[in-house]
Amino acid sequence: MSETIERPVLTPPSGEKKVLLHSCCAPCSGEVMEAMLASGVDYTIFFYNPNIHPKREYLLRKDENVRFAEKHGVPFIDADYDRDNWFARAKGMEHEPERGIRCTMCFDMRFERTALYAHEHGFPVMTSSLGISRWKNMAQINESGKRAVAPYEGLSYWDYNWRKGGGSARMIEISKREEFYQQEYCGCVYSLRDTNEHRIATGRDRIVLGQNYYGKETTSE
Ligand code: SF4
Repeated sequence: MSETIERPVLTPPSGEKKVLLHSCCAPCSGEVMEAMLASGVDYTIFFYNPNIHPKREYLLRKDENVRFAEKHGVPFIDADYDRDNWFARAKGMEHEPERGIRCTMCFDMRFERTALYAHEHGFPVMTSSLGISRWKNMAQINESGKRAVAPYEGLSYWDYNWRKGGGSARMIEISKREEFYQQEYCGCVYSLRDTNEHRIATGRDRIVLGQNYYGKETTSE
């Protein structure tokens, strides 16, 4: 259980204690949330992910995150699902590979909105759960985060490496303990298409939305 976990004491930039956490999903933010709680960081979750398609998958991921936030009594800001803007920005990048320029746009879009909210609501620091996933390029995420805060004086992006000190393993442990919904692709329709193509090419079945939960028998990974 989380009570027995040894963690370093976390100190946000400039010793600030108030943080806006951009969360992409419950599995990625579970460890980030518990680590910040253990260090007494006063944070709010900002859920802005218009990159998650289709809407059923978006709601599955969001609802898991809401459930976990409620369990810990953490404020949860449910921002717009402005998918049309996401698709407009992704135009021409439909066939880019993961970790490429479409993903840079996707991080930029989500972080720009997070930074605006932080600026408008008096948060001196923002960070994200996105970098804890081993599927992501952390440098690419950190660069987007720093770009997003640049227009706002007094707002910093906390580029803490949530994977280190056992963070990656705890992310999985917490996901299993909480039986979080387990997504099987990054989020957008293009990642769903490409993941399905890869699965078919390697003799696996296509993704079935809403099927897999961490710690349950149906989990295929
Ligand atoms: S693959 Fe993931 S990070 Fe990249 S554009 Fe799609 S949803 Fe965004």
